[in-house]
Amino acid sequence: MNKEIDPQDEIDVTNLLLNLKIMRENHCAGCGATICGHEALMSLVMGSKDTPRCWQCLSTALAYDREVLRDHLFALIARRSCYYAGWSWANQDEGFEKDACPNCLWPTLSTHDSSKQPILSSVVQDRTPTHDTDSKCDAEWDAGDMGCGDLVLDLRIRLQSLVPGQILKVLATDPGAKEDLPAWCRMTGNTLVASHHPAYLIKRKTIPGTDDVNICEHMKSNEISLTN
Ligand SMILES: [Zn+2]
Ligand SMILES: [Zn+2]
Repeated sequence: MNKEIDPQDEIDVTNLLLNLKIMRENHCAGCGATICGHEALMSLVMGSKDTPRCWQCLSTALAYDREVLRDHLFALIARRSCYYAGWSWANQDEGFEKDACPNCLWPTLSTHDSSKQPILSSVVQDRTPTHDTDSKCDAEWDAGDMGCGDLVLDLRIRLQSLVPGQILKVLATDPGAKEDLPAWCRMTGNTLVASHHPAYLIKRKTIPGTDDVNICEHMKSNEISLTN
């Protein structure tokens, strides 16, 4: 688990915490409930900094089981120092130990278990993308060194402007992109066709139920407002 903040990530972390605090002031874009810092972080990781959702609404929007979404997102958060800093902040802000399973997401754990480490679930494996990032694409986007939530937010919006099945070529120099982009694609049902950092070819998902449904067994063939 990445608990140390790389000095070069410090600016990212400062921005991330600022974003989380702003997001937490908003209400869930789905049901209007107040959201906690963990829910803000989960929304940010999914590229929904602009429309944060509570845990339930985020799960519904992505057609995931709540616990599965939580475990998958936590597995990603724990590997990324900037996200993990956000997690620790939310824990402390809500009165939990830095590394605890907070009650807001693990309501079944009794209080005396709250220092228990969350179990890192293994994220469902994607098809291995090729390295041929020079192949044909429909649009290109140079994301520069954008990272920590902003990259996936812009990516989500840019993919929405494409027709399903079209391919976006992304250039993203942030080292975290190597983790973030495959994980985001896997969880949203978009296909990472090729990756050779800093280049990534991402195919916008076709209508669910056709030839290119998400490989994740938990995705349902619903229209997903978050990613369409
Ligand atoms: Zn909600
Ligand atoms: Zn919380």
